[in-house]
Amino acid sequence: MRSAILASGQLISANEYTPEIHGSQILCMDPSCKAPVIFVPSSDTISSHFKTSGKGESIHAINCGFFQSLSFQDSVAKVTEYQNIIQNSSKELVVRINMNAIDPDYKPRAVEREEKEKEKKDGQEVKIKKEQTPPQTVSSLRSVKKLFTSYGPDVLASIIISIKGTKVPISYLIRNYKEAHEALWTDKLNQNLPYFVHGVIEWVIRRDKVWYINFVNEDNCLYSLVIFEKYFKHFTYKDDELKGKEILAYGYLKKNTFSKEKQSTEMQIKSNSYIEFL
Ligand SMILES: [Zn+2]
Repeated sequence: MRSAILASGQLISANEYTPEIHGSQILCMDPSCKAPVIFVPSSDTISSHFKTSGKGESIHAINCGFFQSLSFQDSVAKVTEYQNIIQNSSKELVVRINMNAIDPDYKPRAVEREEKEKEKKDGQEVKIKKEQTPPQTVSSLRSVKKLFTSYGPDVLASIIISIKGTKVPISYLIRNYKEAHEALWTDKLNQNLPYFVHGVIEWVIRRDKVWYINFVNEDNCLYSLVIFEKYFKHFTYKDDELKGKEILAYGYLKKNTFSKEKQSTEMQIKSNSYIEFL
């Protein structure tokens, strides 16, 4: 873990920690854990960090975000929790999200194509150097998934996402479908932004002009991914490949105002690349 709590309750990052100034009493930053941790200085191969010794009380609690590697869903939940703790700290990482490339309607301009080539080269260099800092640009759902399963929840909680010219905390953009649905219908969602929403697919309806992929209908939450006829050729998953699967989907959220009694949320997707299996 890259952050810990001092005896004073102050959050400290491993880069800034100096034993002489901050004292040797350091605790895990997870509010439900607070196990004593030790400082590991940086070396040629690793960045400085904090860890438990595994002896006595220095063991993470079972529900601590550092107890074990987290699944995508658990990681998202912990990041939301930690975001409040991290928010006041000065350090923040900006990750740019640009999903233009997955859109079948998108025609890249020559300049952007060049930039993309350049990004590819830069990306490779970064990989060789160090895997400890999150990438600067993310352009696919697979990379979003990788981000959440490769970095600790404290590092993720310090990420600010830059998307469509707006900056938002990472936990604002990536949500469980029920939370996203509720936020939309209580007008707490910025509808000019696309979101990353995860949930389990329950059933699929294929009509002549439109297909609906529905998340599990629980707690009065009706949430459908919608594919229009124009995009059928880009979406090749069969019903069996979708039903019962936990996925991450990308798109803009829209209230379906067709039914007056039921609140139902729609998210238009255009191809296989708009979903990622978790
Ligand atoms: Zn802990």
